[in-house]
Amino acid sequence: MSNNQPLPATVKHLIVGAGFAGLCAAIKLQEDGETDFLVVEKGSDVGGTWRDNTYPGAACDVPSQLYSYSFAPNPDWSMSFSPQPEIHAYMRKIAERSGTLDRFRFDTALEHAAWDADAQRWVVDTSAGRVTAATLVVGAGGLSEPRLPDIDGIERFQGELFHSARWNHDVDLTGKRVAVIGTGASAIQIVPEVQKVAAHLDVYQRTAPYVLPRNDRKYGTLEKAALRRVPGLQKAYRTAIYWAREGYVPGFTLQPKLAWPAKKMALGNLAKAVEDPELRRRLTPTFEIGCKRILISNTYYPALASSNVDVVTDRIVRVTETGVVTQDGVERPIDVLIVATGFFTTELPITEHLTGRTGRTLAETWQETGMAAYKGTTIPEFPNLFMLVGPNTGLGHSSMVFVIEAQVQYVREAIRAMNTNRYAAVEPTPEATQEWNADLQRRMKRTVWSTGGCSSWYLDDHGRNTILWPRTTFAFRGLLSSFDAAAYDVQAPVIADSPTREEVAR
Ligand code: NAP
Repeated sequence: MSNNQPLPATVKHLIVGAGFAGLCAAIKLQEDGETDFLVVEKGSDVGGTWRDNTYPGAACDVPSQLYSYSFAPNPDWSMSFSPQPEIHAYMRKIAERSGTLDRFRFDTALEHAAWDADAQRWVVDTSAGRVTAATLVVGAGGLSEPRLPDIDGIERFQGELFHSARWNHDVDLTGKRVAVIGTGASAIQIVPEVQKVAAHLDVYQRTAPYVLPRNDRKYGTLEKAALRRVPGLQKAYRTAIYWAREGYVPGFTLQPKLAWPAKKMALGNLAKAVEDPELRRRLTPTFEIGCKRILISNTYYPALASSNVDVVTDRIVRVTETGVVTQDGVERPIDVLIVATGFFTTELPITEHLTGRTGRTLAETWQETGMAAYKGTTIPEFPNLFMLVGPNTGLGHSSMVFVIEAQVQYVREAIRAMNTNRYAAVEPTPEATQEWNADLQRRMKRTVWSTGGCSSWYLDDHGRNTILWPRTTFAFRGLLSSFDAAAYDVQAPVIADSPTREEVAR
């Protein structure tokens, strides 16, 4: 997709990112008549993580009927867990249909945004020039910056090396010796695909995950026709999936023992696929189920049990020009090294590029406090900034698109309140923010993410879970359904100092 028109000097709302979050914000603002917005996107297309993660086997592990916009149901999903190209195509279709794409600027990266207290506006420098905006909606994604492993010598490797989220499609893996580092949600989708073509595959596992069977199936023609034509059927289907998923929440947040059926199923899945008792032992998780993301696959364990695969559990000590050396002194030669080692999650790179009211960047602020926001969306010292997929909005059990829609609803309510009451700026009070986060962290103590005996990317350097939402998703939506001005410092006069919509249009 391309849109090379120059940036306007000023807009009312600037949205950063064109993934599920930014696209949802654009569509809903347009619906509200808030048409004076711009979306800047560093990539060349919509899609966010579903544009970037093109590795073989990439698919969603949340059913597509739920992992899609509630306002844009799609009766054409081919499978219950759709592959990445289909999800990306869905997003492109929705973007095109929304009539908002004329306000998207692709290949335009946010370089720095700073709050100008006098003008009560964000001054945003992008790779295509400067634009100012009354509100800044950040939909940059929580899983967008690949984290390369910090392994001695990795930069000296002479073969092909790439991250799962930056797949190099020019490299043909057929007949090659390949290593995959990592056994998370990305790796377990990649490994079975690589195993099919590689001469040999080494899978470097630091922690064995729980893997449930993937109850995937193709939608038949009749079923698709029914979903398209029978009024309310698709909604009912989505609702059923939603409530089934919500049923996981007590096991995660109240009593991990409630998850025993899932644990039994995962261990049964392992026992069924892996006959070798020694390999099975190494693949058996040593923490409570749910502490790390529960994975789903029917092909991962069979791939690991294949004769051309070694599961290596000795710690990696270094990478040489031609292979990987483990603690036991063994060097395994490889042609290609694939690192499926995750993303920067608790130190989001974008935070270094946002400067608030006091002149501090968000990274500096969060270095002191840890990643924290009010309702996962707004942040003291950062007026009129709305962060989608912000702190403690992540899920281990359901669809992030649901969370995004709830947050966008909150942004809409905030903008309505600003328009109606002529607020120029809204900023959550430190007290309200503290109270919100104290409650979250109190709830967090009894979750499996804290008590389950694992280390995960949900936890920051201080062991605080600043990623996940420790309650039901309907509670989240309820709490964000209206704008609570009492929790905010508001500045008047509004937008009197800022250009009116008519002035902007001129
Ligand atoms: P991840 O869950 O963070 O997994 C990274 C893996 O790399 C882990 O197994 C980790 O081991 C390992 N690792 C990291 N650094 C290492 C090192 N230096 N040496 C050895 N091993 C190392 O990353 P991901 O698999 O890309 O998934 C991230 C998130 O993306 C998921 O949790 C999920 O939210 C999302 N995702 C979703 C889907 C989907 O289907 N919807 C698919 C893919 C990803 P440890 O476990 O020991 O830390």
